[in-house]
Amino acid sequence: MNIAFIGLGNMGAPMAANLSAAGHTVTGFDTMAKPEGLSMAASAAEAARGADVVITMLPNGAILRAVADQVIPAMKPGAVLCDCSTVDVDSAKAVAGQAETAGLGALDAPVSGGIGGAAAGTLTFMVGGSDASFATVKPLFDIMGQKAVHCGAAGAGQAAKICNNMILGVTMIATCEAFALADKLGLDRQKMFDVVSTSSGYSWTMNAYTPAPGVGAKSPADNGYKPGFAAELMLKDLRLSQQAADSADADTPMGQLAAALYEQFVEREDGRGMDFSAMLPRFEKRGRG
Ligand code: NAD
Repeated sequence: MNIAFIGLGNMGAPMAANLSAAGHTVTGFDTMAKPEGLSMAASAAEAARGADVVITMLPNGAILRAVADQVIPAMKPGAVLCDCSTVDVDSAKAVAGQAETAGLGALDAPVSGGIGGAAAGTLTFMVGGSDASFATVKPLFDIMGQKAVHCGAAGAGQAAKICNNMILGVTMIATCEAFALADKLGLDRQKMFDVVSTSSGYSWTMNAYTPAPGVGAKSPADNGYKPGFAAELMLKDLRLSQQAADSADADTPMGQLAAALYEQFVEREDGRGMDFSAMLPRFEKRGRG
């Protein structure tokens, strides 16, 4: 396939490299990054011209909308615009509508798996859009990832991503505050892990990403809380979940509180540049008042 890849940052560059290594013709465009070994176009529109699939991996919904305005008029009829960025549901739906009006296919296909998964080709894709567009891009998802779930119509991929990450943020906070409480109650952390990881409080954050150094799964906690998954990216996803909850009139009090706590941690405490599990040392430092 002829593929245009727009947005070649931490995630996009290794994803594009995997497509190219699998034998596809990949033309890239990025306003800043110039990854080695990839043929680059002078503009997003130039990259998109003649492509069967245009993949975007961009920072946010406003940038996605601006790039869509440039690439949609340049794309050939029947081609598919596949956005893999994490963006707000409203932007995902607006871009899909714009592409469909222009006679193109469109998918929102955000990922989980992080930079390691992008490099290893083991991402999970959560996909919204038509059956036909999903079928066109599926072979590319199979190269860049290990799983692609077709979640429903336009916007369903972003909906799945932000609901998952809202659970993740809330659960990480609950796990960290429980460890900090256990410390203050004099409970050994290893004993706390041994009990909770096999009892009804178990979770992915406790069992697979244990936020306490030297206890449980190997995780960023064992590496000075270097990300991993940065606290500011968790904040971005929690804000998207609350933006979606506002627009859908959904009551999400735990998600709202998690967004407020990560905002405080990143913007007014020492969370910037730390893994999102560094909520544990944050709770350790604080008392009730
Ligand atoms: P990044 O900042 O490293 O990469 C974004 C790239 O987009 C940059 O190279 C930037 O120069 C480029 N860009 C910005 N504006 C552009 C424009 N108008 N035209 C072309 N290129 C432009 O970010 P990333 O970590 O690669 O993340 C990309 C997306 O993936 C984000 O939406 C993020 O939320 C999501 N995501 C990231 C991770 C992760 O662990 N990093 C995990 C899952 C999802």
